Amino acid sequence: MDKILCGVDIGGTKLSVALMTTAGEIIEKCIDCDHVHKSECGLTDQVKSNISRLLKNNGLSESDLLGIGMGCAGHIRFRDGFIITTSNLKGYKCYPLRDSMQVSYKVPVILDNDANAQAFGEFKFGAGRGFGDLVFLTISTGIGAGIIINKKLYRGMTGTAGEFGHTIIEPDSDLTCTCGNKGCLMACACGMALPNLFRKKIIAGMTSTLDLPADFDYSKVDGRLVKKGLDSGDPVSTEIVLDSGRYLGIALYNIFQALNPPIIVLGGGLLSWGDIYLDKIRKTFFELARDMMYDPIEIRVSEIGPDAGVIGAASLVLEQC
Ligand SMILES: [Zn+2]
Repeated sequence: MDKILCGVDIGGTKLSVALMTTAGEIIEKCIDCDHVHKSECGLTDQVKSNISRLLKNNGLSESDLLGIGMGCAGHIRFRDGFIITTSNLKGYKCYPLRDSMQVSYKVPVILDNDANAQAFGEFKFGAGRGFGDLVFLTISTGIGAGIIINKKLYRGMTGTAGEFGHTIIEPDSDLTCTCGNKGCLMACACGMALPNLFRKKIIAGMTSTLDLPADFDYSKVDGRLVKKGLDSGDPVSTEIVLDSGRYLGIALYNIFQALNPPIIVLGGGLLSWGDIYLDKIRKTFFELARDMMYDPIEIRVSEIGPDAGVIGAASLVLEQC
């Protein structure tokens, strides 16, 4: 039997573990939602236990695995295999997650940032198939990214390359990012920015046609509410989607100038805003790039779907082969 891959995606709400073929087909997966408050050791034990169960369920053993790939949000020092920081989990400052797993396995364990994992997943199995270079951006609560150059992830010195969410696109903005700087892409155009963007529109005198209570708590504005507003013709929601699309278009233009990739793949929850959002991203990008673009560049939507995290994590094993 061909060797298979194991993927582990450690997110802020879900811990997903899956067995996958080298063709990207999931054999079986399990999802837990009780991992967030566990200690570092507790989480590692939970992952090991889930892997054992999945292998047993399928009549397999560790020797059937090519390796175990792990994706985790946050700053990951790839070469040392530890989490520098992650805002999704408590603790985990400089935690050697890879080695705490590796001691229990003979097959290689690989740990990387979740956006890097998804980027490699898109390259192997999704919208980036056939390309040697690509940039992937995931736009959800935050913004993550991965860069692939010559069929390998480009990680930079520490492993944190591709933090486009912290590139500054509006230096005079009053919107503060999680990093403390003002005007980062993440502060202006992702899920965590939406409460501020909505509040600013209302303060500026716009009226939302969404049926919101008078004492509505704007911190509850999320991508889903804005989508509801967009679908019902709410002018506040529509402007937020267009503003966000413009900022993303500027960010893509900056990426184009820095890296000149043949394809940029976009994923993440806010893509559910649909064509109006994507059209604004593309329009802004192409207006800025104009005749500086000598070869066509593709801006495509992720094709992996809801299992992108765990498929990406498993695909990390293939990068090392
Ligand atoms: Zn920032």
